[in-house]
Amino acid sequence: MADAKLIDGKAFAMGLRQRVGAGVADYVGGGGPKPGLATVLVGADPASQVYVRSKGKLAVELGMASFDRKLPAETTEQELLAVIAELNADPAVNGILVQLPLPKHIDTAKVLLAIDPAKDVDGFHPVNVGRLGSIAPGAPLDFPVPCTPLGVTMLLQDALGHLAGSNAVVVGRSNLVGRPVAQLLLRLDCTVTITHSRTRDLPALCRQADILVVAIGRTEFVRGDWIKPGAAVIDVGINRIPTADGKSRLVGDVAFAEAQKVAGYLTPVPGGVGPMTVACLMYNTLQAARRVAGLPYVAV
Ligand code: NDP
Repeated sequence: MADAKLIDGKAFAMGLRQRVGAGVADYVGGGGPKPGLATVLVGADPASQVYVRSKGKLAVELGMASFDRKLPAETTEQELLAVIAELNADPAVNGILVQLPLPKHIDTAKVLLAIDPAKDVDGFHPVNVGRLGSIAPGAPLDFPVPCTPLGVTMLLQDALGHLAGSNAVVVGRSNLVGRPVAQLLLRLDCTVTITHSRTRDLPALCRQADILVVAIGRTEFVRGDWIKPGAAVIDVGINRIPTADGKSRLVGDVAFAEAQKVAGYLTPVPGGVGPMTVACLMYNTLQAARRVAGLPYVAV
């Protein structure tokens, strides 16, 4: 059997960015205001600073406005809630992204709940979680959806075309990845099984999957002989492992070399799902702006 076809998430994400940029130009050209993305960072965690900066920079590259709110680590919950209220009320802001994790003295759930659901471009607000949980099959995604899961289903649709009727197994049940991926696959008429750390005989369940999405954060946990020949395997995991030269490299949750010999389609790590997250954030921001203007949902 031929090796799996690699799903090039980096290339797809670049294409998506370009389509979002074109969508922004179209929207602004039609008289709309620049879509605006606000990022909120509390504290000076270096990794978070890099993420926030790159999101703001990309927004500007795609023709959007970027509003960066950097708050000191000792910001109180009340102060942060006041910033959120201000951004909620600002018509120039279409998307609000609060960089997580927040300092321990701040109740993250309370902060996420305070974001206007229409501006919740991460898709974490309970209103949007509920919308995704109750969406009719095939209905438009006319509300913000979590970025990484959205990226996973975009890659699958691009690789496979129609997903209807496929057996999909999702390994991992986090609110960030596993659950929303499962909801999105259900919307696309897959028959979905969600698995987790208490699942009995996980390898046997995985072997039934036409589509296998793995998001657990365990280095090369899913082995080649867990994979149904020809299946589409999406590896969401990002694990950093040390290398002999004292540096480190990224590996996924799937044993890549083994999976490559069995799967029909496979995402590499890095270069698979990873680049989709920020591209989908831009996509969500454009969609949020279009909704404010009463424009219909478009898949770009
Ligand atoms: P969480 O730690 O929140 O959730 C992990 C899930 O995996 C849990 O549901 C857990 O089960 C399940 N799990 C853990 N061990 C096993 C096991 N041995 N067998 C079966 N299931 C298991 O992680 P996230 O969902 O946030 O992230 C998962 C991975 O995806 C990480 O590597 C993360 O870095 C990566 N990631 C990548 C992104 C990107 O590409 N942009 C974005 C977000 C995440 P239980 O519920 O029973 O504990």
